[in-house]
Amino acid sequence: MGKKIGIDLGTTYSVVSYVDDTGIIVNVESSEGDKTTPSVVFFDPNGTDVVVGSGARDAGSMNPECLVERVKNYMGDPNYRIERNGTEFSASAVSAIILKKLITDAETWLGGEDIDGAIITCPAYFGDAAKNATREAGENVTLKNGQKLKVLRIIDEPTAAAVAYGNSCNEDMHKTVLIYDLGGGTFDCTIMKLDFEGSDKKYQVITTGGNHQLGGKDWDDALASYVRDEFCAATGCDAEAMKDDPECAAWFSEKIEKAKIALTQKQSTSLTPSFEGSKAKVEITREKFDEITRGLFDQTIYLVDQMLNDKGMNIVTDIDEIILVGGSTRMLQIEEGLQLHYNKPISKFDPDKAVSNGAALVASGASLEENLDMPPVMPAGGDAFGGFDSPSLGGGSTFEDKSGNTNQIVEVCTKSYCLRYYNGGKETFINLVKKDEPKPAIGTTKTIIPGLVLGGGDSNGMTNEVALLIMENDSRDDHVERENCVELYEEVPIMLAEPVSASSQVEIQLYVNISGELKLTLIETATGRQYEMIPVRKGGDTNSIGMDAATGFTLVG
Ligand code: ADP
Ligand code: MG
Repeated sequence: MGKKIGIDLGTTYSVVSYVDDTGIIVNVESSEGDKTTPSVVFFDPNGTDVVVGSGARDAGSMNPECLVERVKNYMGDPNYRIERNGTEFSASAVSAIILKKLITDAETWLGGEDIDGAIITCPAYFGDAAKNATREAGENVTLKNGQKLKVLRIIDEPTAAAVAYGNSCNEDMHKTVLIYDLGGGTFDCTIMKLDFEGSDKKYQVITTGGNHQLGGKDWDDALASYVRDEFCAATGCDAEAMKDDPECAAWFSEKIEKAKIALTQKQSTSLTPSFEGSKAKVEITREKFDEITRGLFDQTIYLVDQMLNDKGMNIVTDIDEIILVGGSTRMLQIEEGLQLHYNKPISKFDPDKAVSNGAALVASGASLEENLDMPPVMPAGGDAFGGFDSPSLGGGSTFEDKSGNTNQIVEVCTKSYCLRYYNGGKETFINLVKKDEPKPAIGTTKTIIPGLVLGGGDSNGMTNEVALLIMENDSRDDHVERENCVELYEEVPIMLAEPVSASSQVEIQLYVNISGELKLTLIETATGRQYEMIPVRKGGDTNSIGMDAATGFTLVG
C-alpha cells in the first residue's frame, strides 16, 4: 500500500500533505526545501525543459516572458490559451506541469513508497468546468512507477480547512463557523456547521462567497505603488515610466512581497529601489501599510456581510467562531480587523497548510474506488409548466480517519443550474438545482414536449426530437433571465424512441453528484421510458490543448 496524498493547488502557492502510518499529518518538502511551492512555471526558451516553483521565479526574473503565473484563475475557461515557444497550453495543461513538480517532490520525499492517489482541492466557487479541468490536470501526471496519478476526488478548500480544524478538536461541539480564506490571488468565505459528537464528526457547508480577483497580490500592488510614489517624490523620477520598466517591475515583484511578509514580524522595514541612475531608501511602517491597504480589507468584510445577508444570517447571532485560512491571513491587520469588526473568537492554525492537511486527512480515509454514480431515478415531483421540485438528498460523503472517527462531509452546490424551456413560445429558464443545495442534489420539473423544443412537431403535431439546455447561474430564484446565466454546456439533443404527440408530458431531472458532475434524465410520463445524458461542456475538450507537450517536459531546477 502506498500513500494517498492531499494537494492544495493554489493560485500562488501549492502545498502537499499526507497522513503517516501513525496518523500524523506530514507536509512534503520540495526539492528546494520549502513546504510551500510557488505555482509558477518557467518555460525554458531553448528547449523542452520547464522549471516549477521558486526556481521558476528566479529564472523568470531574467526572462519574464517565459514565465506563467496564476493560471488557476483560468481553470476550465475554454478561451484561455497561453503560448510558449510556439506551443499553446490550456490552464489545465499548465496545472499538470505544476502538479508534476508537486508529485515528483512528494515521491522523492516518500522514498520508495508509491502514491496511490490524491485529493486535489479547489475553491468553493469553482464550477463544474473548473473542477473538471483540475481533475484532468491531475490525471495526466505520470508517477514514477509509470502509472497515471489517480485523482480520488476534488474537494473544496474551505471544507478541507474545516476538516483540518476538526481534526484538532477532540471535544463534542455544535458550532457555526466562518472560514475566512485570504490567499495570494483569491478571497473565499464560507459558512460551515460543525457537529461533533463522540466519534461522529459532521461538516456541513451552509453557503459560500468571496471574490476570486482579490488576494495578497492586491496588498503587494498597493505597497508597490506606495513605494514607487515615495521613491519618485524623493528622486523626481516618473512613477508611470518606472511601472512600465520590465527590469524595475521584476525587482518590485521580488522585493515587495518580501517586505510585506517582513511587516508581519516587524514594525517597519525599508526598500531601496533604483531607477534611471537614481537611488533612494523608502521606509515602510506597518501602520502605513495597514493604512494604504485598509480598503482591501474592507472589501473582504463587505463580501462576508453580503454572503451573510444573502442567507438571512447575522454574524452576532449565527456565527460562533472565525477560522483563518490562507497565507495572507498572516498579515496582522486581518486578525485585528476581524476582531474589531466582528468581535468573535478567531482560530488560526497553520493558515497556509490547513487546506492540504485537510485534504490529506480525507484522502487517508478515502477508498480508491469511490462511487460517484448517480442514484436511481427519484419519484416524479413538480408541476407542469415551470414548477419544480428538489427532494433533498444531500448526504455528502463519509470517510473514516486513522483515529476511528467517522467524518461526514456535506458540501453544497456553489452554482445554480437552470433548464431552458418554452412557455407559450417564450424562452424561459427555471432553476432545477439551486446554489447552496447540499450535494448530491436532484431537481425535477414536468413539462410538455413543446416546452423543450421551439415549434417542434410535424404537420400532425408529432415529434421525436427534443433539445435540453442547462446553464449555470448565481441566482437563488426559481426563474432566471438568460443574461444572468453562463452557457457552459452544449445543447443536448435527444431522439425519442418513437414520435410522441407534441402535447405529451415529460419529466426532466437534473442530478448533481458529490463531485459536482451533472446528469440529465428525461422521462416520458406515458411510457416511463428514460433517456440519460451527461451535459457536454461548450468549446469541446479544451483542457487537452498542450497536455501532451506539458506532460512530455523534463522538470529541471
Ligand atoms: P493561494 O492559495 O492563493 O495560492 P496562499 O494561501 O498560499 O495562497 O497564500 C499566499 C499569499 O500569502 C501570498 O500573497 C503571500 O504573499 C502571502 N503571505 C504568506 N506569508 C505571509 C506573511 N507572513 N505575511 C503576509 N503575507 C503572507
Ligand atoms: Mg489557498
